Amino acid sequence: MPSHKRQEFNGGSSLDILALAAHRDDVEQTCGGTLLKMAERGYRTGILDLTQGEMGTRGTAEDREREAEDAARILKVAFRRALDIPDGRVENTWENRLKIVRVLREMRPRVLILPYWEGRHPDHYTASVLGYEAAFLAGLAKLAISHQPSAPISQVSGLRSQAEDCGSVEENLSPHRPLKIIYASLYRDVRPSFVVDITDQFEARFSGLMAYKSQYTDQQAGSGIFPEQAEIRARVESMARFYGMLGGVTYAEPFVQKEVGLVDDVMTIPVKSI
Ligand SMILES: [Zn+2]
Repeated sequence: MPSHKRQEFNGGSSLDILALAAHRDDVEQTCGGTLLKMAERGYRTGILDLTQGEMGTRGTAEDREREAEDAARILKVAFRRALDIPDGRVENTWENRLKIVRVLREMRPRVLILPYWEGRHPDHYTASVLGYEAAFLAGLAKLAISHQPSAPISQVSGLRSQAEDCGSVEENLSPHRPLKIIYASLYRDVRPSFVVDITDQFEARFSGLMAYKSQYTDQQAGSGIFPEQAEIRARVESMARFYGMLGGVTYAEPFVQKEVGLVDDVMTIPVKSI
């Protein structure tokens, strides 16, 4: 059974950056290097997985919980939680929006990283719209959200875990809307608005992905649909190098933002033109 642990570590409960994704290991694949880089700069980062991975060909939801915990430590995130939305059935419903609103109000991120809004997997693009609509709702002053989750929430990992005790935990569920939403676009062949240099984080980010041993260790189950580990390494590296090349660095992760970029000093705009 999924544990019902509460996990808050590094003290306090608010986050600077929260990355939301449909499945455990999506964040590791699309923006794990950026999260690690921000954590190394002193920002409090977190991951919200919408599902627990019970439909995966390899391993169980419990395997994935343990592996997600290991990956969270490698990426130095201060918070990780998995909601109980069914794997393979991420739907943009009022109930699911409210589950995310609760987390946004609780963790109060300034920056929200969502999956890109188009993709092959319905869970991915639905998670994008669901996350956006939840971020909007989270800021509505008249939308009341109770402390107590209406459905079980599994929370994994942490440098300091403690048993859940909602009665004694002060949670501030007043309205909150992230200032900035950026879309992790690695799963989709679109031109990014910007890339984040993860040259120094690339190896750790790859280790974070490989923490999902039930998924990525070479094995019989699913061998027809899963590439071998050496091939995964080559693909991950090729993608990071491609986006790195666009930014003039070795490895990078791509993002799309819907807003225009604002520049104060044109002398400091990075990336060579010619
Ligand atoms: Zn996924």
